[in-house]
Amino acid sequence: MADRWEKFSENTKGRYYVTKVCIGCTLCSVIAPSSFRENTDMELSVGHCYVYRQPENETEEALCREAMDSCPAGAIGNNGSRNNQ
Ligand code: SF4
Repeated sequence: MADRWEKFSENTKGRYYVTKVCIGCTLCSVIAPSSFRENTDMELSVGHCYVYRQPENETEEALCREAMDSCPAGAIGNNGSRNNQ
C-alpha cells in the first residue's frame, strides 16, 4: 500500500515537494504559481498539485513558504536544504 506521506512522482527535484495527503484544493498554485501547479490527469480520481519548479529567488521562496504554511492538509514538505538538491 502506498504511503500517504509519499511524495508525488511529478515533483521536480529539490527542497519543496507535495505528498499524497494533498486534497487538491489548488490553494498552493494560487499562492505560488511559479512553483506549484495542478495535475489535471483525468485518470486520477482526485486531482492534486505538485512542485514543477523550485523557488529561485527570495520572493519565490517566501511564496513557497506561505503556500506550505497555508496548505489545509499539511501536504507540502521542505527538506530544509538551502540548494535544490
Ligand atoms: S494547498 Fe495543499 S492540499 Fe491544497 S492543492 Fe496544494 S498541496 Fe494540495
